[in-house]
Amino acid sequence: MTEKTIKAIYIAGYGRSGSTLLDIYLGQHPDLVSGGELCNLLAWVNDKTRFQLCACGKKVEDCLVWGTVIKKIAELAKKEGVSLIQLEEVRRKLENRRELFLHRHSVQDRIAKGYQEFYKKIQQEIFSQLLHSKAGAKFVIDSSKTVAHSAARPMSLVNNCGFDLRVIHLVRDARSVVGSALKGRNRDLERGKASSVNYIGLRAALNWLLTNLGCDILQHKLTKSNFIRVRYEDLVGYPGVVSKKLGDFIGVSVNPLLTALRRESWLEEVHTFGGNRMRLRSIQLDKKKGDVATPLGYRLLCTVLCWPIF
Ligand SMILES: [Zn+2]
Repeated sequence: MTEKTIKAIYIAGYGRSGSTLLDIYLGQHPDLVSGGELCNLLAWVNDKTRFQLCACGKKVEDCLVWGTVIKKIAELAKKEGVSLIQLEEVRRKLENRRELFLHRHSVQDRIAKGYQEFYKKIQQEIFSQLLHSKAGAKFVIDSSKTVAHSAARPMSLVNNCGFDLRVIHLVRDARSVVGSALKGRNRDLERGKASSVNYIGLRAALNWLLTNLGCDILQHKLTKSNFIRVRYEDLVGYPGVVSKKLGDFIGVSVNPLLTALRRESWLEEVHTFGGNRMRLRSIQLDKKKGDVATPLGYRLLCTVLCWPIF
């Protein structure tokens, strides 16, 4: 088995753009297995006090799929004599936003060769276990998006791990994203807490701009056939058309996705890690999900800040 045989679909873009929804939807296809925010897995393993439920409704450590993945990671770490805390530090160095914008080769020199090799082994183990968890699956979906500590993750999975990776850049109208951000952080909402972040609307608008610029850079670093841009509003408004486009891009039949569109629930047999709290209840592609009531002032702010790439 060569390293190239691990195939993955990476959902890039800003948070609150529907990445969890798309991850779970694509996971309905028999050839694809939904993984979720895989960039956060090691941090979670290192700090299990963080609240985390799998999409199947069980605690991550009690879930059949993630329980096995975590056990395998721990065994591998023990065998190699490497700490997962050190590995998470290495992952952040290899995958952070500066690597995407500046691509400093020097980072490779500052990381011990042994750690890079272990990073590769761990990522291969996680993706291989997910593929094994669903009979017949050929691709793992990683919806780690393009946050500060994972913006260069797609390049790292290709260059350091040898994956065959296709990137879906999911982009949602900045005005809706800011409206969603004003409701509060997912982490707080899952716990029923009010948001404690200052200037959350302004921060969301600026981060939306930075993130989508990062995705533009990513597009130039990948071959044309390995990158596609999808608008969230098209996904929820015209799911059949977008599904066909995605099926062609990945190289799988669109029919299972069209069948899934007619089903009421998508959460059976899905074990998506992390992501939006919607993973914990029944979800569907719904045009109404594209509409977010954003105050006029913030709509104007987004128009001024984000107009170059609307
Ligand atoms: Zn599960």
